Amino acid sequence: MSQSRLPAISTQLVHHDYVPPAGFHAPQPAVHKASTVLFPNVAAMRAREWKDKTSYTYGLHGTPTTYQLEERIATLEGGSQCLLAPSGLAAIATVALALLRQGDEVLLPDNAYGPSKALAEAELAHYGIRHQMFDPLDVQDLAARINERTRLVWLEAPGSVTLEFPDLIAQTRLCRERGVVSALDNTWGAGLAFAPFDLTGDGSLGVDISVHALTKYPSGGGDVLMGSMTTRDQRLHLKLKLAHMRLGLGVGANDAEAVLRALPSIALRYRAHDVATRELARWMADQPAVAQVLHPALPGSPGHAHWQQLCGAAHGGDGAAAGLFSVVFDASRSQEQVDAFCDALRLFRLGYSWGGPMSLVVPYDLGEMRERATPQLAPGTVVRFCVGLEDVQDLRADLAQALRQAFG
Ligand SMILES: *Cc1c(COP(=O)(O)O)cnc(C)c1O
Repeated sequence: MSQSRLPAISTQLVHHDYVPPAGFHAPQPAVHKASTVLFPNVAAMRAREWKDKTSYTYGLHGTPTTYQLEERIATLEGGSQCLLAPSGLAAIATVALALLRQGDEVLLPDNAYGPSKALAEAELAHYGIRHQMFDPLDVQDLAARINERTRLVWLEAPGSVTLEFPDLIAQTRLCRERGVVSALDNTWGAGLAFAPFDLTGDGSLGVDISVHALTKYPSGGGDVLMGSMTTRDQRLHLKLKLAHMRLGLGVGANDAEAVLRALPSIALRYRAHDVATRELARWMADQPAVAQVLHPALPGSPGHAHWQQLCGAAHGGDGAAAGLFSVVFDASRSQEQVDAFCDALRLFRLGYSWGGPMSLVVPYDLGEMRERATPQLAPGTVVRFCVGLEDVQDLRADLAQALRQAFG
């Protein structure tokens, strides 16, 4: 291996440090299950240290299996410490509860992951924590909303469902300048499309916290719920870790093992999802019922230039993007027709989540989801597609037959 260049993430994940038990030199990490961890004597029990990974105290605070996964997720994200939570949403909630107190304010992009907005509107509001939604495509709007009560800014690139790609570099720089913690929901980028802790490629700028729904690409199987919080800042990590401990969050060893098993193929899967998704998104753009296709790698999609800047260099200049695209069906098409289209799909199944082998589809009512006007979007009904690992020609044929059935 060359000294000047770090190995690619896929190589690092396959060759990640792991010390096997003496006499059993297999590279696959073992699965350790425990609530109780025994101490040899009282002195050792009193000297227990769970805040760093120097010893084990109780299953909830970590096992060799969960530590191993935390270290690999930190590698994937380019951070230095990681904490696991029982879901992506639990990781989001932990960040909020660790950093916010009564009288504080949190800012969220108006196109943020819906349940993250709902948490701010319900529990956080009940605890006396205020929130504001900012325009994800207008850095000046974010700048104007940061005030002396602002303690946390959520970022998402691209936004959920409508996939507008923000100027993440400018947003992060702004948070840095104003001394506010930035937390990125990095589920879409997955540590592969861009480096959340090195956005400019020269080591000078990164988000403070990267949250990742491991439920999606790291699991890859549609069979695990898990989330992570990755940081580079030791003090911030400790703050999250204390809240994480007091909230009693842990993950099961079997779930951690499932993600460990899937990680070596994450880069391959991500690329396969990406290639198929772009092909289908481009094809959908030519269909008469479609007013707009939302996919950050397609020219004309909101924020495309920001995607190009951040993710455009990967894969020999093709750039990197996840396996999601959305379509705005022309406003002349009725809600019933769009529903009929979704019902007529056979390979794209109706269901939430993404990142697994099966293609999924969800129709959305944008009016219920947004506080702000969305001039960047064509009027009409939004449908989001998650592209799985089926053959892309079969998926295209499925879209074609459903379009024919619903729109003639
Ligand atoms: C799925 C998802 C989450 C939440 O993950 P869960 O494990 O389902 O709770 C958070 N953010 C984004 C962007 C997601 O897509």
